[in-house]
Amino acid sequence: MSFFAPKLGIDLGTANTLVFLPGKGVVLNEPSVVAVSEGDRKVLAVGIEAKEMIGRTPDNVVAYRPMKDGVIADYRVAEVMLSYYFSKVLGKWNFFKPDVLVSVPAGVTSTERRAVVEAALRAGAKNAYVIKEPILAAIGAGIPIQGAKGNMIVDIGGGTTDVAVISLGGIVACTSVKCAGNKLDQTITDYIKRTYNLAIGDQMAEEIKVTIGAAVPRDEELSMTVKGRDYITGLPRTAELKTNELVKALGRDLRNMIGAIKTVLQETPPELAADIIDQGITMTGGTSQLRDFPELVFRRTGVKARLAENAYYCVARGTGIALDHLEVYKKSIIAKR
Ligand code: ADP
Ligand code: MG
Repeated sequence: MSFFAPKLGIDLGTANTLVFLPGKGVVLNEPSVVAVSEGDRKVLAVGIEAKEMIGRTPDNVVAYRPMKDGVIADYRVAEVMLSYYFSKVLGKWNFFKPDVLVSVPAGVTSTERRAVVEAALRAGAKNAYVIKEPILAAIGAGIPIQGAKGNMIVDIGGGTTDVAVISLGGIVACTSVKCAGNKLDQTITDYIKRTYNLAIGDQMAEEIKVTIGAAVPRDEELSMTVKGRDYITGLPRTAELKTNELVKALGRDLRNMIGAIKTVLQETPPELAADIIDQGITMTGGTSQLRDFPELVFRRTGVKARLAENAYYCVARGTGIALDHLEVYKKSIIAKR
């Protein structure tokens, strides 16, 4: 047991919450979901367990997603979720309140960032620090953010695509669009309804995207048997789905995301634009892992793009590294208590 306050870095995402323990790495990775009973508003399950209940539970169980577009949408539920994760990571025998560092989207308002600090403190944190997500993603991707060289970070998660140019430890230009992994799932659901008259659940849509989805057409297509319910007969049925029809169906959403990248490139001062050509674009977040996404970014922008190593974990790693070197990154802390 440590005799100092334990440290927890938290990637509080719309889709998933990750907790990073300096010295240990990512110790928790669960959906940002809380299952609550409707009548007495009792918390029934948090995280993985709660997500598994969605769509499979009686009507009196409600699944809450406390985060929307990267910010806290349901304060009480966010606090419950955080305190559950704190005790899960630290154990019940822990006497010391943790110091926590939480990520927030680059575009948060002061009220939104205060809400995050407040939720962390009420969930049991001793001190709470907040740093903007693109900075943390860059730190986690191993980019030397304090340098004068400009870098572009594209973080694509569940709810939003966030694009930022970072130089000298700060954000020079950024934008965010509400189009990311969840939207891709919705588009897949709509496509399968339209084309195959088949109703599928949210988890099936996500599975299709991850298993056979891609950002650019492939010579060797992947395929998958999709299971759902026929809209006309009402009976369970399957259909065969291939990669390239999905690529086409996802085209509009992908253009939307690339649009955000182009917007920021156009707003970037020439000196930094030159750096970005040299350094290339770094992609992080779960949805950046869609097959050949960096290739699509290159084709549409003319700028090289690469998937960061462990793209899914970059923000969480960044929170842990920043927490361990608060002095180094103090200029990037935008809220603290
Ligand atoms: P957030 O930060 O918003 O919580 P994450 O970075 O955790 O989001 O990413 C979650 C999203 O990434 C989900 O929509 C999920 O379906 C998607 N995702 C995860 N792995 C893959 C993959 N291999 N290919 C495509 N999408 C993926
Ligand atoms: Mg994220």
